[in-house]
Amino acid sequence: MSKDLLIRAILADSTIRCMAAVTTSLVDQACKRHNTLPTSSAALGRVLTGTLMMGSLLKDLERITIKFDCRGPIGNITGEADAHGNVRGYVKNPQVDLPINEKGKLDVGGAVGTGTLYVIRDVGYEIGLSREPYYGSVPIVSGEIAMDLAYYFTKSEQIPSDVSLGVFVSPEGEVIAAGGFIIQVMPGADEKLIDKIASNVAKIPPSTTMIREGFTPEDMLRKALGEIDFEILERKEVQFRCNCSYERALSLVAALGKIEVVDMLEKDKGAKLTCHFCSETYLVSAGELEKILDDFQTQEG
Ligand SMILES: [Zn+2]
Repeated sequence: MSKDLLIRAILADSTIRCMAAVTTSLVDQACKRHNTLPTSSAALGRVLTGTLMMGSLLKDLERITIKFDCRGPIGNITGEADAHGNVRGYVKNPQVDLPINEKGKLDVGGAVGTGTLYVIRDVGYEIGLSREPYYGSVPIVSGEIAMDLAYYFTKSEQIPSDVSLGVFVSPEGEVIAAGGFIIQVMPGADEKLIDKIASNVAKIPPSTTMIREGFTPEDMLRKALGEIDFEILERKEVQFRCNCSYERALSLVAALGKIEVVDMLEKDKGAKLTCHFCSETYLVSAGELEKILDDFQTQEG
């Protein structure tokens, strides 16, 4: 499968900014890792794509987390991205598959239902730096993800935005196309230009139709913006990447404390940890648990 790409662009003296991404491979990988059924695949794919595009606005060490804390059958959806095109995420209930909705589409809104959308921007917590994280939240207005992110931008960040996100899943459950774009209106933008873009965006085919026809992120933006010129500021590969590791699993076990570790050793002769974000499983052997216990003794002694 071809590489996933994201671009960031500006136009009209930076009063309009845009992001566009093709994420088919990474969404397919995420869905396989989490063993999702079609409705969950679409919901997860839309969140991962939106999170990545929002992540493209971050500074070097920042991370962004998008969380749909929802009451629908999917439970909740989390996406987390950094400034370098890496994203990871999961849904609480991957086995949600609802009947196709009246528009003939996967019923993501039905799977998500009502609830709250949280956006958290944080910096460097993994390398010991800390800064007051940014929190924003809005009620979930449609559960279709793109409209909810647009509502968040407008309401919480005062940046009116057009968000398009799509995931096309085959009848066999394979992710065939995924991606989307975001167009944001910054202060000082020309009203006529905004209207022109809005009427153009309303006429174009869904993102997944364009991606299935082989459109790149750049092609999608060109289609969305019609004849309006734009300047590409950044073009990069994007991927599903989790930062969990066996070493991290060991330190998590150690952090549980001596009593828990003794318990794991006696009852299970080892430990099994599964990463929420990527479904990777780490098996910690009895020998490894004994080593952790030895470290506790050393610390105490
Ligand atoms: Zn992981």
